[in-house]
Amino acid sequence: MANKRSGLVCSMCGTPDSSSNPVVKVLEGLNLCADCIKFIDDARDAQLKKASKKGEAQKDEVLSVPKPKEIKEYLDQYIIGQDEAKKYLSVAVYNHYKRITQSKDSDDVDIEKSNIILVGPTGTGKTLLAKTIAKLLDVPFAIVDATVLTEAGYVGEDIESLLTRLLQACDYDVERAEKGVVFIDEIDKIARKSDNPSITRDVSGEGVQQGLLKLLEGSTVLVPPNGGRKHPEQKMIAVDTKNILFICGGAFDGIERKIASRLNTHVVGYGHDEASRKRQRDNLMRYVMPQDLKSFGLIPEIIGRLPILTSLDPLDREALRRILTEPKNAIVRQYKKLFLLDGVELEFADDALDLIVDKAIEYKLGARGLRSIVETIMVDAMFEVPSEPVKKFTVDAAYVQDKLEKAHFEKTKIIEPVS
Ligand code: ADP
Repeated sequence: MANKRSGLVCSMCGTPDSSSNPVVKVLEGLNLCADCIKFIDDARDAQLKKASKKGEAQKDEVLSVPKPKEIKEYLDQYIIGQDEAKKYLSVAVYNHYKRITQSKDSDDVDIEKSNIILVGPTGTGKTLLAKTIAKLLDVPFAIVDATVLTEAGYVGEDIESLLTRLLQACDYDVERAEKGVVFIDEIDKIARKSDNPSITRDVSGEGVQQGLLKLLEGSTVLVPPNGGRKHPEQKMIAVDTKNILFICGGAFDGIERKIASRLNTHVVGYGHDEASRKRQRDNLMRYVMPQDLKSFGLIPEIIGRLPILTSLDPLDREALRRILTEPKNAIVRQYKKLFLLDGVELEFADDALDLIVDKAIEYKLGARGLRSIVETIMVDAMFEVPSEPVKKFTVDAAYVQDKLEKAHFEKTKIIEPVS
């Protein structure tokens, strides 16, 4: 009977107190019926479950970041040589992702972000290393050229626009972009022209470096969704760069001279000993230190935010030969697969591969040239073989020579393939 009940009404759903759904006073002015209390309990349980699942997932994420050795083994499948750079990169990437997956409340030790700078001749695998790392981690990846960036107020792209590419790479999923990898190529081209701080900023150099600082160290920046220049009526996307890993690359042409002069000053009096002769024989780039980057024209603040510095070796004949066939997606493997799709077994004779390497060296095309050369050689076969009843096609040195001559390879301007 209603009159035997308390007469209370549930503050949430308005139901009056009844034996089937009793209403109780929870707080002054707050009455709840049994149904609503159950609803609140269930909702709270669901919340708790969700939160603990998130915690588990976070733990899983920590575990799923491959160990440095695993990262290097993965890189080995795609990149020939460059062991030193691979090792540095593996450790840096491991620490970076461990850092961003660590639970916030663990302790008060704040692991600092470690962006990376790769120094080495063009076409030795800097971009490939960064790209392969991003593939392994399955995070968004963007390559940007530092030379297109200019300080605000000048013609060119705003510095923030380099994050546009990253957003585009993950369909504007800001959360994913904030854990991505950005490769900034040709960082050496924004070096200031002299080691002395300039009084007036130069457009292409120091101003851009200053602009890059806040991105590298981690802050929230407003990114134009379509890149280029910002304009007032444009809607911006806020991106926090705290967890974005920046890998910079540059050839730093001539830095060897700076390294050499620094090393000489350190080995005064020992200039003719075995160790110093060996140093000269070896690739000087291996001895690159932050102060050499400063002498080259990077500002100390930028150098400070790129604490992992490592170098890449020039590719010798043996490395080029291996690049042709060994990496998982080596150019020769790619052609074999293409032919196989037409039911044709493609074979490259050893002398053909040697000749391709010779030509790449002769024309100073490096690893990039290998692809141009193979493409030039293979175009006729790609055109004809699918229509012919052949089951096997062999490329030998004579075939390579013939195709290169016919294609006027020597006179042709090689257009570098986009890698
Ligand atoms: P960089 O960024 O140093 O100028 P890239 O990484 O763009 O050079 O290399 C250009 C191309 O040359 C790559 O796409 C790849 O095919 C090949 N290449 C360069 N270095 C290597 C290497 N060490 N191992 C395998 N392939 C390489």
